Amino acid sequence: MRFRVLGSGSSGNTTLIECGGTAVLVDAGLGAREMAERVQSQGVDPGSLAAIVLSHEHGDHCRGAASFSRKWGVRLLGTRGTYAAGGFGAEDIAGWDVLEPGRPWACGAITITGVAVPHDAAGPVGFVLEGDGVTLGHATDFGHVNRALVDAFRPCDTVVIESNYEPALLRDGDYPWSLKERILGRFGHLSNEDVAQYIKRGLGEACRTLVLAHLSRQNNHPDLAHMSALSALRSRGRTEVRLEIAEPDGMDWITVAPAPRPARGPEQLRLF
Ligand SMILES: [Zn+2]
Ligand SMILES: [Zn+2]
Repeated sequence: MRFRVLGSGSSGNTTLIECGGTAVLVDAGLGAREMAERVQSQGVDPGSLAAIVLSHEHGDHCRGAASFSRKWGVRLLGTRGTYAAGGFGAEDIAGWDVLEPGRPWACGAITITGVAVPHDAAGPVGFVLEGDGVTLGHATDFGHVNRALVDAFRPCDTVVIESNYEPALLRDGDYPWSLKERILGRFGHLSNEDVAQYIKRGLGEACRTLVLAHLSRQNNHPDLAHMSALSALRSRGRTEVRLEIAEPDGMDWITVAPAPRPARGPEQLRLF
């Protein structure tokens, strides 16, 4: 399994994931034409995508979903809440399937499980994507890390997680107070400090690559997000974890590699 973030942040989120001949997009927050060009530039035919998997209805995740689906004949996969709030008409899209959080959905060589997350949307989810013996966790847009997400991401070899804002920059910035309160709230967005706490208390031992995504241009800086996560990883002695930042225009391919498992040979069996 490998993936490439093609867009990250409020200007539009979309990630291309490939595994065993199956390719899907997680979120479709760019314009349909722009998204098709970025997919094609990776040598992938947009019409060959098995699904567009939607996390929630906000424009920076859904903007191009309907027109991309219709033009390229790609079905959508999302929760009932996302469809209802996103206002997708059956005639606007190639087709759609309902993702029930917690219930795995087989999409070619990739099995996708939605994990409900706390965000001010109708049915927001993060995802666990499994295939080819590895597991990828992908979650952006949520206000706090809950127990369900920690448990769902524990076996993940790679985790893509939102690191949206630095609290001091947000508080001192130009956003109106109502928006600041929304972002800071339990159903808003995840801060650099929230991610640091997740690394210290929740990140699974299997994780070998951590990608920070959906950074705010106004209220964060890649160096601050990187430093905060790196110091949390070091404080836990997790020096084996590769740390990456998803830029607004995306990033290079990352291969999801399995963590080395402890050998269970006949030597160990003899102990019992
Ligand atoms: Zn977003
Ligand atoms: Zn959102």
